[in-house]
Amino acid sequence: MNIEIAIKNACKELKENKISSPLLDSELLLSKVIKKDRKFILLNPDKELNQIDQKNFKDLIIRRSKGKPLAYLTGSKSFWKYDFKVNEKVLIPRPDTEIIIEQILDIYKNKSNINFLDVGIGSGCIALSILKEKKSFLGTGVDLSQDCINICRYNANKLGVSNRIKLLKSDVDNLIFRKYDLVVSNPPYIKKLDLNKLDKEVKNFGPKLALDGGLEGLSVTRKVIKKSSELIKIHGKLILEIGYDQREPVKKMLIENNFYVNRILKDFANNDRCIISTKKN
Ligand code: GLN
Repeated sequence: MNIEIAIKNACKELKENKISSPLLDSELLLSKVIKKDRKFILLNPDKELNQIDQKNFKDLIIRRSKGKPLAYLTGSKSFWKYDFKVNEKVLIPRPDTEIIIEQILDIYKNKSNINFLDVGIGSGCIALSILKEKKSFLGTGVDLSQDCINICRYNANKLGVSNRIKLLKSDVDNLIFRKYDLVVSNPPYIKKLDLNKLDKEVKNFGPKLALDGGLEGLSVTRKVIKKSSELIKIHGKLILEIGYDQREPVKKMLIENNFYVNRILKDFANNDRCIISTKKN
C-alpha cells in the first residue's frame, strides 16, 4: 500500500467516526510512524509503506477514531514557539494559555532578571516558554504529579533551560521561604459536576488532576491566591488562567488577599481567560 492510499483509507475511517480534522490528523500520524515530516508525505504519494508501518499506522488511526487526542498519540504538542513532550498524565498545552506568555513578555519587557514560580507546571509549557524568551530569568515549578515533573524535566532539557528551572513534586504549602517577583498558574478550574460536559476528548483522556477544581471550580485557585500572597514580593505579580465565568469570584478573592487587579484578558473565543494582579504590600 502506498502513502496516498493509506492516507485515503485513514481519512475515511476518521471521518466516519466524526473526528474533526481527518486529513491533517492522518498525515501527522503517518509522519510519526514513518519518522518523516508532513511535507515528505505530501510530496511522495506513491511511496510504498512496509508491513510494519502499515500496521502501526492502522493502530494509531483506530485509537484516534476512538477520540484519543492527537497530541497523546504523537506524544507532542506545539505551544508558543516550541514542541512539548506530552502524555496522558499531563494536560495538553492549549493555545488560549499563550495569552499568559504574551502578557508576561510585555510586563517584563524591560527586566532582565526575575524569579518566578509556576504552580501546577504540568508539561512546563508556560514556565519553559518564558525561560526560552528571557535568558536570565529563573523559574521554579511545582506540581503534585511526579509524572508531570518528569515530563517537564525532559522538556526543560530538550529546550536547554534545565539549569534555570527548579522542579519540585510539591504542594504550594511547602514553599514558604522564597519570595517571587511573579507567580503564574493555570490551575484546574473546572467545576466537578461540569467535568462530564467537557469535550469528549478532554473528558475521556485528560488527567483529572489537571482539570478538577472542586465543587465550584475554584478550590485550587483559592488556595493558589492565598498562598501566593505570602510567596510574592511586595508589588510582585500574580497571573492566573481562569474559567469563562470566574472573573467576579476570582477578583473578589484577589482583593481579599491584598492584591490589586490590573486587568482581565479574553481568549480567542472572547471569554475571560486570564487575570493579572499585583501584590499591594
Ligand atoms: N501549566 C500547565 C499548562 O498550562 C498545566 C496546567 C494544569 O495541568 N492545570 O498547560
